[in-house]
Amino acid sequence: MAYNCVVLVKQVPDTKRITGQAMNEDGTVNRAALPAIFNPEDLNALELALNIKDQFGGTVTVMTMGLPAAAEVLRQGLYRGADRAILITDRRCAASDTLATSYILSCGVKKLNPDIVLCGRQAIDGDTAQVGPQCAEKLGIPQITYVEELIKLDGKTIVVKRNLGNGWQEVKGRLPVLLTVLDTANEPRVCCAKRLMKCKTAACGPEVETQIRAANPGASDEQVKAMAKQQGELLKQKGLLIEQWDLDMLNADLQWCGRDGSPTKVHRIQSVVLTAKESKSVEPTQAGVDAMIHELIVDHTLG
Ligand SMILES: Cc1cc2nc3c(=O)[nH]c(=O)nc-3n(C[C@H](O)[C@H](O)[C@H](O)COP(=O)(O)OP(=O)(O)OC[C@H]3O[C@@H](n4cnc5c(N)ncnc54)[C@H](O)[C@@H]3O)c2cc1C
Repeated sequence: MAYNCVVLVKQVPDTKRITGQAMNEDGTVNRAALPAIFNPEDLNALELALNIKDQFGGTVTVMTMGLPAAAEVLRQGLYRGADRAILITDRRCAASDTLATSYILSCGVKKLNPDIVLCGRQAIDGDTAQVGPQCAEKLGIPQITYVEELIKLDGKTIVVKRNLGNGWQEVKGRLPVLLTVLDTANEPRVCCAKRLMKCKTAACGPEVETQIRAANPGASDEQVKAMAKQQGELLKQKGLLIEQWDLDMLNADLQWCGRDGSPTKVHRIQSVVLTAKESKSVEPTQAGVDAMIHELIVDHTLG
């Protein structure tokens, strides 16, 4: 049996290469100071989906919700072997917390009706690990989190190994299912040179418009739009136009999207930088550890 997989991939700031002030005054992330990358564990989710396709046949669709710039992770997905790329982008998605993000993504997934939905376990920026499980809940399908290995896929039955940190679980489930995948699950494949050459011009509508505007600085807005439409048609014929969906196309209920759909309120963001004088060496002996635990209990950090 062939399986249709949807992989939810997120473009995230590279938290290991900060090139300026990471946070804005208002507590939001200053994305300009952080180069954007493919969320690492989403590469593992994509690799698992591509393995399923290699073994059983079917399709792999990569989907992201973000600004048009997030199309870059979709291109990366195409270079690695995904068949289809979908960008959910809409101004009304702005300020979505995890609940709204999962609602919007689940509306997108519903349109594709896949057998298996794969997510990374966690994004390295938001770091909540909530989006996968919340999507499963909204889709009304079972979820298996912390997946480290696909043991068996047979008809509508899936068996996977979960890594719980201090042990493993073998879990059997029924399709359709949502999996959240760990970084220990596999070694993500690198981009395929042939596919890179084929898909490097893949772009979403706003990217096409930006390219046309840059190449034709004297053109009016109408001229740019007309040229972008023409270029978009050409890309579509070659299968290189990254599909762009908005909330209307998803039939999304706006009260569950963006700020309105986000019950999380961030009151304050504090940047904690520990200085050397705030760190303390602990003797690597039982007495040293006992003394540290005693100290932590006394100042109510523990207990
Ligand atoms: C009050 C509030 C306001 C916010 N406002 C904004 C804002 O204005 N702009 C902004 O960019 N962020 C905003 N965020 C952050 C945003 O909510 C999170 O980035 C998003 O919900 C994902 O959560 P996470 O990063 O914890 O993902 P996790 O739950 O850790 O991600 C798990 C997995 O879910 C999938 N996934 C997560 N997000 C996406 C996505 N967007 N597309 C595809 N797959 C995905 C991936 O597979 C990922 O590995 C806001 C958060 C809060 C709390």
